[in-house]
Parts: sequence; C-alpha cells; structure tokens
Amino acid sequence: MNGSLMVVGLGPGDTALVTPEVSAALAAATDVVGYLSYVARVPPREGLTVHASDNRAELQRARQALTLAAEGRRVVVVSSGDPGVFAMASAVFEALEDAPELQALDIRVLPGITAMLAAAARVGAPLGHDFCAINLSDNLKPWALVERRLQLAAEADFAMAFYNPRSAARPHQFARALNILHAECGPDRLITFAHAVTTADEHIETVTLAEARPEMANMRTVVLVGNSATRRVGRHVYTPRRAD
Ligand code: SAH
Repeated sequence: MNGSLMVVGLGPGDTALVTPEVSAALAAATDVVGYLSYVARVPPREGLTVHASDNRAELQRARQALTLAAEGRRVVVVSSGDPGVFAMASAVFEALEDAPELQALDIRVLPGITAMLAAAARVGAPLGHDFCAINLSDNLKPWALVERRLQLAAEADFAMAFYNPRSAARPHQFARALNILHAECGPDRLITFAHAVTTADEHIETVTLAEARPEMANMRTVVLVGNSATRRVGRHVYTPRRAD
C-alpha cells in the first residue's frame, strides 16, 4: 500500500498560523477530504481532487479517506484548529477500528493551533494554570453529562474552554451552562467570548459572569472561563501560575 492519510489541522483561520508541516502535506496531496468550509481554505491547484462534505458526516468522510489512501492516493483530511480537538482525527481511528485490513496504512496526525489557544493568546494567558476543554454540543453525548462535567470542573476550580457553545438548534443549553457557572463561581468570574479568532470577523470581549449573556456566543465562538484567581492586568487577562 503506497497511499497515505494525513489528518491535519488548518489552525483557527489566519494562513500565518498553518504550520509548515501542514502546508507541505497539502502541497504533496492528491486528494483533500473535509467539511465544505474547511476544504474551501485549501487553494485549488491542478492535480488536487477536493472531496467536500457536510459537517455531520464525519465517519463517512473518514471511511472515504481511508478508501482513497488504500487505492494509493496521498490523502489529506482537513480540520480547523487541531485535528485531535473535537475533530477528524478520532473519526479516522474509529473508522480504522472497523477496517483491520487498512491498519498497515501510513496514517499520520499533524497538529494545528486549536481555537482555545489562539483565543487565549489574544487576551493574554487565561489558561496559564490547570484548565480543561469541554465540547458543549450534545450531538455525541447526553446533555446531562455536559452539565456534570461543567459542575465538577467549576468545583475543582479549573479554568475552562468551551467549544461549540451555542447553536440555533439548542439555544437554551448555553444559558443553562452559564447559570451553572454563575451558581458555582459567583458573579465576578471573568469569561471571554472569542469569536472567529484570527479571521476578518474576529471579535473578542471579556466580561464577568454577571454580565455574560447567552447571545454573546454562537458556533464560531470559543468561550474561556477563568479560575478563581484569573484577573485583568492592563489590557490583558491572565491566570497566575500558582494556586493555594
Ligand atoms: N478542531 C477545532 C475545533 C472544532 S469544533 C479546533 O481545534 O479549534 C468547532 C468549534 O471550534 C466552534 O464551535 C468554536 O467553538 C471553535 N472554533 C473553531 N475555530 C474558531 C475560531 N477561529 N474562533 C473561535 N472559535 C473557533
């Protein structure tokens, strides 16, 4: 089997944040597979076949990529940010579990800059101590589990990053998440809404939980919540390296 499958992260948006390793994989690819708006970020060129699909079709997309690689193609599966963060890398390995005959294929995961790190860097260092990342979508897990993880992370005084915070299909859940945080962390806790980081639509604001409104987030927002020591310094927000 001469084909290969690279699962790559395109970063949060700015082309300057695509790693040289990912650019090289794209330059060598015969096929690019991914969600419509992500493959749109790959410049078209002769000899490159683009396979764009709908966002929910992850497993099907992963199977298609494996099949193409098994046929001898140099396949690149694209995700935004990092491919291992709520993205395609796990989907590829799920598909590989069902295809033992393909497990000898050359499969590699190339990291990218994930949204929470790009957002954190924009405001300062809000994730400078222990933190956790939670996907607020209940597509692949029950909402009760999301609430439990939020509650426990807040109790443990983790700073937090939320991906997929709010969609039109489930507008009330994020309001519920904010209520849980408010009850556990109090009104003064800092929360950053980072929208479309490093793109032309970027908009970032840091407020307190008392000021936070569900409408401040949508599906292009990553939300960062500080721990109990997170504070402002000048124009920046940071979390000290120590905890008592
Ligand atoms: N693999 C991606 C995450 C995919 S899940 C990564 O590592 O960043 C999609 C979610 O990522 C969005 O709902 C949003 O919460 C977040 N996201 C992706 N790109 C973003 C950006 N440029 N700005 C803010 N949030 C972003």
